Amino acid sequence: MAFKGGKRRAQREMTSDELAASYEQMIDTWVPKTALGTMVKKKEITSMGAVMASGIPIKEAEIVEMLLPNMSEEVINVGRVQRTTDSGRRMRFRVTAATGNNNGYIGIGIAKGKEVGPTIRTAIKRAKMNIKEIKRGCGSWECGCGNPHTVPFDVEGDCGSVRVKLSPAPRGVGLIGSETAKKVLTLAGVSDAWVKSSGRARTTLNYAYAVLDALVNTNYMKLNETDNKNLSIVRGATSKKELKAEDDTKEQTAG
Ligand SMILES: [Zn+2]
Repeated sequence: MAFKGGKRRAQREMTSDELAASYEQMIDTWVPKTALGTMVKKKEITSMGAVMASGIPIKEAEIVEMLLPNMSEEVINVGRVQRTTDSGRRMRFRVTAATGNNNGYIGIGIAKGKEVGPTIRTAIKRAKMNIKEIKRGCGSWECGCGNPHTVPFDVEGDCGSVRVKLSPAPRGVGLIGSETAKKVLTLAGVSDAWVKSSGRARTTLNYAYAVLDALVNTNYMKLNETDNKNLSIVRGATSKKELKAEDDTKEQTAG
C-alpha cells in the first residue's frame, strides 16, 4: 500500500543552471510575511546556524530554501486515510516527507490531502519549517578520521512505542538499519551509523520520527572542550573546506 519514496527521483534532474535560476526566481518573488523572513531576505541573517541560535520559529519555507540552497527531499510514507461523510466515504492521502541538506540539518513534515502530488509538496514545505540542527562527529576510536561522518556518541530517541538507538560507526561502514532510517540519516548528513530499534508498532512514520528524535538528542549531551575535540564534533553544517584533506580519498574507497 505504501508508495516507495524513490518515485520522485524518476523526475528529470534539473541542471545546475536551471537550479540556480529557480533559486534566484524563488528569492526574487518571495515576499516575507514574518520578521525573521524579512531579516533573511535582507541578508541580515545569513546562516541557518544563526536562525537556530535565535530560537525564533520558522514560519516560512523560503527562509530554509534561501539559507540551505541544496536541500534534498524524500517521501517517507504515503498512507490512505478513509473518512466517512454524509455523501459516502472519501479517500484522502497522508504524506510524510523529510528534507535535509545532507550536512547537519533535517526536518520531517506531514500533510493530508485529496491528491498525492500537492500533498507531497505541502509535506515537504512543512518539513522545511520543522528543520532541526543536529550534531555529528567522528565518534569512534576505531576510526579516528576526524571528520563529522557519524553520530558523535550513542544516542536514543522515541516516538509512540518505537525506540531507536544510533551508535557511531567507523568511516566506510555505511548505514546499518532500515530503509526509513537510512533516508533520514542520509538527509541529515550522517553517512555511517548502527541503528537498533525496538517497539511493538513499528510504523514507518513513528520510526522516522524516532530517528529524528535521536538525532535532535545529539544536542542535549553535556560535553566539554576535550570531548568536542576528541570526537571531532560539529553542530549543523560544515563547509567542505573544513574537512581534512584525507577525506576525499576515503570517500572514494567507501563508495
Ligand atoms: Zn571517523
